[in-house]
Amino acid sequence: MLCRLLCLCLCPDPQVDLRDRHALVDIFSSHRFEAVIHFAGLKAVGESVHKPLLYYDNNLVGTITLLEVMAANGCKKLVFSSSATVYGWPKEVPCTEEFPLCATNPYGRTKLVIEDICRDVHRSDPDWKIILLRYFNPVGAHPSGYIGEDPCGVPNNLMPYVQQVAVGRLPHLTVYGTDYSTKDGTGVRDYIHVVDLADGHIAALRKLYEDSDKIGCEVYNLGTGKGTSVLEMVAAFEKASGKKIPLVFAGRRPGDAEIVYAATAKAEKELKWKAKYGIEEMCRDLWNWASKNPYGYAGSRDNSK
Ligand code: UDP
Repeated sequence: MLCRLLCLCLCPDPQVDLRDRHALVDIFSSHRFEAVIHFAGLKAVGESVHKPLLYYDNNLVGTITLLEVMAANGCKKLVFSSSATVYGWPKEVPCTEEFPLCATNPYGRTKLVIEDICRDVHRSDPDWKIILLRYFNPVGAHPSGYIGEDPCGVPNNLMPYVQQVAVGRLPHLTVYGTDYSTKDGTGVRDYIHVVDLADGHIAALRKLYEDSDKIGCEVYNLGTGKGTSVLEMVAAFEKASGKKIPLVFAGRRPGDAEIVYAATAKAEKELKWKAKYGIEEMCRDLWNWASKNPYGYAGSRDNSK
C-alpha cells in the first residue's frame, strides 16, 4: 500500500511550473495520477511583502491551474502544504485546528486563500478529498546526510541561518527579540523534524484512501506540541555540532509572533501520526547534512549575490 501511494505522487518532470497549463495538461494526459501532494510555492515572508503580485501569481494561480487540470483528469485527491502562519499571533497556545485564522503578510495570505479555495472546491464537488497540512517549523535533514535544505541567498529561517554560521558562511546569528514574555525572552516555536513531517504526508495520503467516504476537506497540524525558544534551539545545535554560534541581539522582527506551538491531538487521533523526534535529533541530522555539504547541493555558492 505504502509503495503504491508513494509512486502515485511522483511527478515525472519536477521542473514544470504549475502556471504552465499546457505542460501540466501534457503530464496528466501521459500519466494517470490518483493523488497529488502539492508542495510547490514561494515561501519567503519578507520577499512576499516586497513582491506581493509574484506571490499571488505563483502560489494562487499555480494552485488554481493545478486543481483545474486535476479535475479535468478525474484526479480529486489532494494533500496541500499549508502553514502555521495562518494562526498569526495566536491569543493562546497550543493552536488547535479550530483557532481563528489570519494573515500578516502576502505569503500567509496565499496559504489562507488556498485553504479557502480547497474548502470551496470540495463544497462544489464532494468527490474531492482534500487534506490541508499546517506545518509548524520544519528543521533537520535526512539522517543519511544526502538530502537537506539548501536555501538560495541569505536564509530567512532560524536553523538554515544557524547552519551557515556554523560552517563559516555567515559571521553570526542575529537574535530577533529578547523581550518576549517567554522563558528567556526569545521567540518560541514548534520545531519538527523533516522526516516526521514527511511521514505526516504519508499518513495523510493513507487517510485519503482508507477513509475516503468520510473525508471532505480536513485540516491537520503537523507539529510536536512542544515549544522551544531561539536560545534553546541554538544551545541544542551547539551541543550537536560542537560549534559556537556567535550571537548578536536585536529588536523584534516585524510580524513575528511570540509563542506558537501545535495542538497535536487531532493528527494523532485521526491520522494516527505523531512526531517521533526531538530537537536533539533535528540538530544532529542538520549538522550531519551541513558538515558534509557546507555549500549545499551546488558545492560552492557566494552568499553575497
Ligand atoms: N529568528 C531569529 N534570527 C533569525 C531568524 C529567525 O532570531 O535569523 C527567530 C524568529 O524571530 C522566530 C524564530 O527564530 O522567533 C523562528 O523564526 P523562523 O523564521 O525560522 O520561523 P517563523 O518565524 O516563520 O516561525
